[in-house]
Amino acid sequence: MVSEQISSQQAINLEDKYGAHNYHPLPVVLNRGEGVYVWDVEGKRYYDFLSAYSAVNQGHCHPKIIDALQKQATTLTLTSRAFYNDVLGKYEKYVTEYFGFDKVLPMNTGAEAVETAIKLCRKYAYEQKNIPENEAQIIVCKNNFHGRTTTIISFSNDEDARKNFGPYTAGFIKIEYDNLDALEKTLKSSKNIAGFLVEPIQGEAGVYVPSEGYLAKAKALCEKYDVLFIADEVQTGIARTGKLLAVNHENVVPDILILGKALSGGVYPVSAVLANNSIMNVIKPGQHGSTFGGNPLASAVAIAALEVVKEEKLAENAEKLGKLFRSEIQQLVDSCDLVKLVRGKGLLNAIIINDDEDSSTAWDICIKLRDNGLLAKPTHGNIIRFAPPLVMNEEQLLDCVRIIKKTILEFNS
Ligand SMILES: *Cc1c(COP(=O)(O)O)cnc(C)c1O
Repeated sequence: MVSEQISSQQAINLEDKYGAHNYHPLPVVLNRGEGVYVWDVEGKRYYDFLSAYSAVNQGHCHPKIIDALQKQATTLTLTSRAFYNDVLGKYEKYVTEYFGFDKVLPMNTGAEAVETAIKLCRKYAYEQKNIPENEAQIIVCKNNFHGRTTTIISFSNDEDARKNFGPYTAGFIKIEYDNLDALEKTLKSSKNIAGFLVEPIQGEAGVYVPSEGYLAKAKALCEKYDVLFIADEVQTGIARTGKLLAVNHENVVPDILILGKALSGGVYPVSAVLANNSIMNVIKPGQHGSTFGGNPLASAVAIAALEVVKEEKLAENAEKLGKLFRSEIQQLVDSCDLVKLVRGKGLLNAIIINDDEDSSTAWDICIKLRDNGLLAKPTHGNIIRFAPPLVMNEEQLLDCVRIIKKTILEFNS
């Protein structure tokens, strides 16, 4: 059944008829990936310039990660946490030393890891900071994206994500992103603030990079008011922005670190929450968990995926190619009215199209990019995110720049 070859149109028709319409994919049907490339069912090759929202940082089907997956898949895949397995402990040691924390709590998806961080932050507030029960507040930022669960969408301000999914979870205060005055004012306003949950760069919002020093100063404010600084690095982490973590650009060590996506190189759903003992030890047996969290397959895959990041110096490569990319695209911005600006860090970048938020221009450009052999997707209305796998080389990047320039100039004429 799955080996039967179908056309792109047949695949689209099947999804349209039998799948819930909770996504609006670009019309391209992929059936193979290798490194920075993906192929559609008709055999056309594309550069992947989205990397599954930065999950495939290590490139598609990385041989080392696939090898780890295959070996573990034929040995032991799932025990649940009712029993020990011989891979989880090794992974826990590896991942905590890798990121410099005492302990990890393994989950599967990004949203689950965010939920875990919220629960951990609240429990710590009640048991270690004596905040009165049910009174804890977590500060979040406007235009955040932290996932799709009921609690997480409760503090979103994206109407599509929120509307008609209420009643919402209480206990969150929304402030302006990249605004330290708003943060301090809110920290000062109540004794019941437990945490500040923030994306070091707002990815889904359109690769919004905060002012230099924002994260370091925000962390210092959290220390001053004894509030946990929680970094959601699900999209920005694992070398994407030119450092292992985006907070490393400002030498910030979060109290709670949330990882997902590229933690597995896009091979398997693996997410994690990292913290030191003083925080993580508030969670006792039976108080939180997941059937699949920390399974041997996930553990083996994550170790391999993290090894690849170091062995292939992906952070250094992202830093170098990111600078090249922005300087090349800046020439386009300077010479062409259709592109208003380019911004980003490392290989997490976006261009802003000079048109209304609700125009179809960005979408139409992505269709033309597809025709010219490069896959990218608009984020919010008129913003296009550019996030290729970090295993890209300079020659490939310049080839992609050429495709982007050509496409935009064709579009403009
Ligand atoms: C993708 C993302 C999530 C959610 O991850 P899922 O695996 O889709 O649940 C959370 N936070 C950020 C910053 C993300 O980019």
